Amino acid sequence: MTVSNSAPIPADAANRIKLVIFDVDGVLTEGGIFVGSTMDGEPLELKRFDIQDGVGIKMLMWAGLKVVLVTGRPSKATSIRALELGVQCHQVVDARKLPIVKDLIQKHAVGWEEVAMLADDIPDLAVLRRVGLKAAVSNATEPVLDIADWVALRPGGRGAAREFCDALLSARSQLDDVIETYVEERSRP
Ligand SMILES: [Mg+2]
Repeated sequence: MTVSNSAPIPADAANRIKLVIFDVDGVLTEGGIFVGSTMDGEPLELKRFDIQDGVGIKMLMWAGLKVVLVTGRPSKATSIRALELGVQCHQVVDARKLPIVKDLIQKHAVGWEEVAMLADDIPDLAVLRRVGLKAAVSNATEPVLDIADWVALRPGGRGAAREFCDALLSARSQLDDVIETYVEERSRP
């Protein structure tokens, strides 16, 4: 069931979802990293995250969904961003994502069909192949696009994650409520 060009996510697939997994590099970032060092010679790595993507992730959590970032490449920049968003983040070595996701599924007592993932490249495939809703950024590699149920119009790090969050919440008929609750809460003195 490939739904491309940002077509709506089918409501039955969306309504099943309880846990949403985001890859980090190439999904929440463009995939580039700035590599350098501090004045003291300490290695320094910088990444660019999209603010609207971050709001989308918060919206999923406000809607009652569990959200987890799972990256196969540990980085302090990722830890800082996850902390800022208040989102659970697992950084595994050598892209061994499947064992940690299996643990998460057990811990949260959900089935594979209740999991969605937004992915971009082959390090995601071991998990992506198993989840109920397979989503891809527009610039994902061919093996990911080939199995995607839904493909964003926007590339990783440039709004694909927000597009996915909006599409998922919209398919669950939660998008308007989440926005209105947010605005209402911030309208109080
Ligand atoms: Mg990636």
